[in-house]
Amino acid sequence: MADHSFLSWPFFGPEHRHLRADVDAWAEAELPGLVDHGDVDGTCRRIVRALGAAGWLTEAVPSDSHDVRSLCLCRETLAYHDGLADFAFAMQGLGTAPITLFGDDALRKRYLPHARDGAAIAAFALSEPEAGSDVAALAMTVTPDGPDHVRLDGEKTWISNGGIADHYVVFARSG
Ligand SMILES: Cc1cc2nc3c(=O)[nH]c(=O)nc-3n(C[C@H](O)[C@H](O)[C@H](O)COP(=O)(O)OP(=O)(O)OC[C@H]3O[C@@H](n4cnc5c(N)ncnc54)[C@H](O)[C@@H]3O)c2cc1C
Repeated sequence: MADHSFLSWPFFGPEHRHLRADVDAWAEAELPGLVDHGDVDGTCRRIVRALGAAGWLTEAVPSDSHDVRSLCLCRETLAYHDGLADFAFAMQGLGTAPITLFGDDALRKRYLPHARDGAAIAAFALSEPEAGSDVAALAMTVTPDGPDHVRLDGEKTWISNGGIADHYVVFARSG
C-alpha cells in the first residue's frame, strides 16, 4: 500500500491533503473508462476534457499563480493511476505557463480559459534537433510578417501533443 505519511510534512496544509485524496478518488473512478492505450490521441483528448470538467486543470492553468505543491501532488497522483493522465495534465500546464506567467491580458483571455476547462489542448515547442538540453543552441527564428502575423523559420522536434494541440507555445529567436 502506498505510504502518504509525507503529507504531514510542514509545507503541506489541509488543502493539499484534501486535493490529493480528491484527485486520487477521481482517478480511481474515472480513468479506467477514459484510457485506451491503443488510441493515445483519443485518450489524451478524453482525459483533458475530463480533467477540465472535474476542475483539476485549475492547478495546471491557474488564473493567478501556480501552487507548485499542488501541481506535484496532482502529477504524482495521476501518474500512479496512469502515465498518460499525468502527461495530459502536465502538458496543459507546460503549454500555457509562458502565457500565465508573461502574457498580457488579451493573450491570457484568449488561451487560458479553454485550456483550463479542457476544451483546448496545449503544446510547448522548445526542443529542436540540435537544441535539447542545450536550449541556448535554439536556432528557430521569428520575424514580423504583416501587422498581425509572424514568420517562423526552423525545425522543432519531440513536441508532445503535436498534431492534436489547439495551440502551440513556440520558442524562437527574435534577435
Ligand atoms: C517523451 C518525450 C516528450 C517530449 N516532449 C517535448 C515537448 O513537448 N516539447 C519540447 O520542447 N521538447 C520535448 N521533448 C524533448 C526533451 O525535452 C529533450 O529530449 C530533452 O531536452 C533532451 O534533449 P535531447 O533529446 O536532444 O538530448 P541531449 O540534449 O542530446 O542529451 C543527451 C544526453 O546527454 C546528457 N547531457 C546533455 N548535456 C549535458 C552536459 N552539459 N553535461 C552532461 N551531460 C549532458 C543528457 O543528460 C542526456 O543523457 C520530449 C522528449 C521526450 C522523450
